[in-house]
Amino acid sequence: MPRGRVLTLAVLVSAVFAAHANARFDALGSPGLGDPLFPLAGNGGYDVGHYALQLAYEPRTKVLDGSATITATARQNLARFDLDLRGFRIGSLKVDGRPAAFGRNGQELQITPAIPLKSGRQFVVNVSYSGVPSAVTDPDGSIEGWVATNDGAFVVGEPQGSPSWFPSNDNPRDKASYDISVTVPAGLTAVSNGTLVGQSTRNGRTTFAWRESFPMASYLATATLGRFVVTKGRVAGIPSYVAVDPSQVAGSAAALAQFPEIVRFLSSIYGPYPFDTVGAIIDNAPEVGYALESQTKPNFDSAPDVTTLAHEISHQWVGDSVTLTTWPDIWLHEGFATYSEWLWADHTGQFTPQAAFDYYYSLPDSNPLWSPPPGAPGDAANLFGDPVYFRGAMTLQVLRNTVGDAAFFRILRRWATQYRYGNVTTAQFIALAQQESHMDLGAMFHRWLYEPGKPAV
Ligand SMILES: [Zn+2]
Repeated sequence: MPRGRVLTLAVLVSAVFAAHANARFDALGSPGLGDPLFPLAGNGGYDVGHYALQLAYEPRTKVLDGSATITATARQNLARFDLDLRGFRIGSLKVDGRPAAFGRNGQELQITPAIPLKSGRQFVVNVSYSGVPSAVTDPDGSIEGWVATNDGAFVVGEPQGSPSWFPSNDNPRDKASYDISVTVPAGLTAVSNGTLVGQSTRNGRTTFAWRESFPMASYLATATLGRFVVTKGRVAGIPSYVAVDPSQVAGSAAALAQFPEIVRFLSSIYGPYPFDTVGAIIDNAPEVGYALESQTKPNFDSAPDVTTLAHEISHQWVGDSVTLTTWPDIWLHEGFATYSEWLWADHTGQFTPQAAFDYYYSLPDSNPLWSPPPGAPGDAANLFGDPVYFRGAMTLQVLRNTVGDAAFFRILRRWATQYRYGNVTTAQFIALAQQESHMDLGAMFHRWLYEPGKPAV
């Protein structure tokens, strides 16, 4: 190769490199947000402001056709960024109206816009997709996501199920508002978060349009559908929408009768209900085997008892409105919801939180309740283990006994109001508890949250 040509190429290459380096348009959004338990959940480089999902589901073929319009803001220059999506065939993918190149790698949908995005710029992604959704199996063996039922689908997202039905930045740190419309065969009902803003039937298909205006983490989105008996009205003065599978109506009556008092009671503990709608989806989904606190519409796999209803309603404050930043802090949801059950039991004259504490404390060192400690579940398979729920709730009882009732209930209320709609850490809770009690609680919290084995009292 002649010397002159080599030089020319070298000059050209360095000039191109300099241009890119100046604009930093070669920047790639990271494929995950580094959660200790789910490192690929969510994506770096942008924040979603709004999801508009248009879904159509045919239970006979189990095919879901989706169109997602995602409005986001670049937090860095982006030559490429990811969304999380599991399965499906992509029909078209556009960024700001222009076709974009894309690739697939596991749960990562890697998008290269025709024109790189500048930091600070708002952009719109449109993804149309189609296929038979697959449920996600978690490290603990439980299933979530889009779970087909005999009359539709039971749709729950914690902790990593949302990408099984829509492309998302699937991390609790990136809350957004949602418009979710679902078209189903006439006679079925599709229930999602927030308010039903439209319902129309045409050519044997009914479209339900739902809007959740409050910030919502992606794992709390639902689009559960099937045959439901729907009751609309008010619960404790708040517009309500309760959908119950016909087979579960009789079994749900006793718990649903307590719904208004649960909302009133929990409002007296945590402050005003954080959203503008309440509700419940009570389905017949025995293969799921758990309930989930989907925002404004907790999902139940079968008729709940009143304790389970109180648990999921309490999550609207602790979990949905005040949400963990990383998954190992899950006790901030489940320990608090379990403690809410104990408060409800006390309120209704069944047992006191101290009696619950004493019962669990009587269990031997060998009981799985004690390890791993609730503040450090260590492994995704332990995310919903006994320590997170029961030892987590016991930690709150120890706090109550240490600081006294007045400070304790001030802490709970302050926690739910000061951090409303936000993301939190255990360190922030400890700091708030110390600030409200004027006590050094570090050693107590460390013993109860982070040391394996049964803590001494
Ligand atoms: Zn829970």
